[in-house]
Amino acid sequence: EEIFLTDFLERSVSEFPDNPALNFQGFRLSYRETDRMVKSVAAWLKSIGVEKGDRVAVLLPNVIPCLVAYYAIMRVGAICVMNNPLYTDRELLHQFNDSGARVLFTLDLLADRMTALRSKTSIKEIVYTSIGDYLPFPKSLLFPLVGKRKKLAADVAPAPDVMKWKEMVAANAPTEFRETLSLDDVAMYQYTGGTTGPAKGVMLTHRNLSFQIQQASVWFSEFDRGGECCIAALPWFHIFGLTCALNYPVSMGWEMVLVPKPQGPQLLETISKFRPTYAPLVPTMYIGMLNDPAIDRTDLSSIKGCFSGSAPLPLEVTKEFERRSGSVIVEGFGMTESSPVTHMNPFSGGKRKVGSVGIPAPDTEARVVDLTDGETDMPVGEVGELFVRGPQVMKGYHNRPDATAESLTDGWLHTGDIARMDEEGYFFIVDRKKDMILSGGYNVYPRDIDEVFYEHPKVQEVCSIGVRHPHRGEAVKAFVVLKAGESATEQEMIDFCSDKLAKYKWPVAVEFREALPKSTVGKILRKDLREEEEGKSV
Ligand code: ATP
Ligand code: MG
Repeated sequence: EEIFLTDFLERSVSEFPDNPALNFQGFRLSYRETDRMVKSVAAWLKSIGVEKGDRVAVLLPNVIPCLVAYYAIMRVGAICVMNNPLYTDRELLHQFNDSGARVLFTLDLLADRMTALRSKTSIKEIVYTSIGDYLPFPKSLLFPLVGKRKKLAADVAPAPDVMKWKEMVAANAPTEFRETLSLDDVAMYQYTGGTTGPAKGVMLTHRNLSFQIQQASVWFSEFDRGGECCIAALPWFHIFGLTCALNYPVSMGWEMVLVPKPQGPQLLETISKFRPTYAPLVPTMYIGMLNDPAIDRTDLSSIKGCFSGSAPLPLEVTKEFERRSGSVIVEGFGMTESSPVTHMNPFSGGKRKVGSVGIPAPDTEARVVDLTDGETDMPVGEVGELFVRGPQVMKGYHNRPDATAESLTDGWLHTGDIARMDEEGYFFIVDRKKDMILSGGYNVYPRDIDEVFYEHPKVQEVCSIGVRHPHRGEAVKAFVVLKAGESATEQEMIDFCSDKLAKYKWPVAVEFREALPKSTVGKILRKDLREEEEGKSV
């Protein structure tokens, strides 16, 4: 169906005007009120002359103004650029300048830094919201939510000449104006996770985002339109959260419970308090909850369905979380370049395969292509690079014709991930091409090793990489974080693997760490561990 994101919101507003759309720590905003605020912000954007195709940046955690700004930007036909509030100035400058944003919506906590950055960018207008806006209790009670108390001290009032969110909303009457767009117009420059290198700006069109929602509706047939509650813990500035914890729920008229600091304790507390029924999360969030002692006191039974993606979900984690919650975790696969979902397991009414990312989404084609020639299809069961094609696949990378030409041929997106397909058409992600280890002439996939470690009762988190080895070229080294209070020896870990893995996959070294390096969206950064080991030899 040829409809726009704004239509999905409008549809939910007319069907469920009084249902809560947003829930921020108990402060609820209905669909009608949300729509009103969107139209006020759109009026302000028009009043400062924002036109179709202009770039507007958003630098916010999951707070009410984040969703509102996003839909306002869509209404006026500008291009939305989402940014991660944990990024450094350097990373932000790259995204502001690469996108050429002229307006920024951000937090007053960042006022000092943004005022200083502005002169180095094309940003003309900044709107500041406070994390305390729309809280049902005094902001001083906020510190468990945002973390360190110290941070709030820096919560200074922004300079007098800047715009504050609530005043801007109050000063602008809602407008019915809506820019006329084509589905092929670009809706967002969505920056990639930056897991393997500098983030690239993915151009996603209105068609990409709209069809992605329609593709998902197949999976949501089990859920009630207008009747569910989504835990919106995945950051909206990342494509996985934007699609699964914002675009889908809005299109279904669901309540979204915002978790601005999505770590184990906050997730469990939110589940206890607000009883969400649908939980799209990343593997490190499931791991964080399972390793939090509060899980024993948390009733997880409200959850009907969990979704996981963005990194491999270890089998042991699936089993343990399902045992405790009584719900199922359905795994899918996606990337920023494909809005993101291309594969997903059925929730019900079809077979779910644990360990698999499921079958291609409707209207999505997928191939497993020879790693050596990059064009021949591999037979069923054999590994190759995953290629995907469908209406959710990006237009290209902004400002990066070279990278676009490399990863898009005839509409086929080269994912850079190694996969295989079984005889029933289910796909299994083996690893990223860049992470493959070549040991003694064999390909070793770090994920295989990691899965074995996760079976060890003392292991909380693990990441295996290839390190230089005098005879084998590369050999496996594992970095392990033990569960609280546990201790173990390197030999004990190696022995644990040796009866479960072929000899060439055995780790030659195991290093214990307090924590593993992670990206700000919770992905373990294999590349950082590899860089640390560079030049070393075992
Ligand atoms: P960058 O492209 O900047 O290095 P990134 O690839 O991590 O970062 P995203 O677009 O957020 O950025 O992530 C897409 C990648 O996440 C996929 O290419 C794949 O490697 C990984 N991924 C997504 N879902 C899964 C899954 N279910 N299992 C394993 N890996 C997954
Ligand atoms: Mg990528």
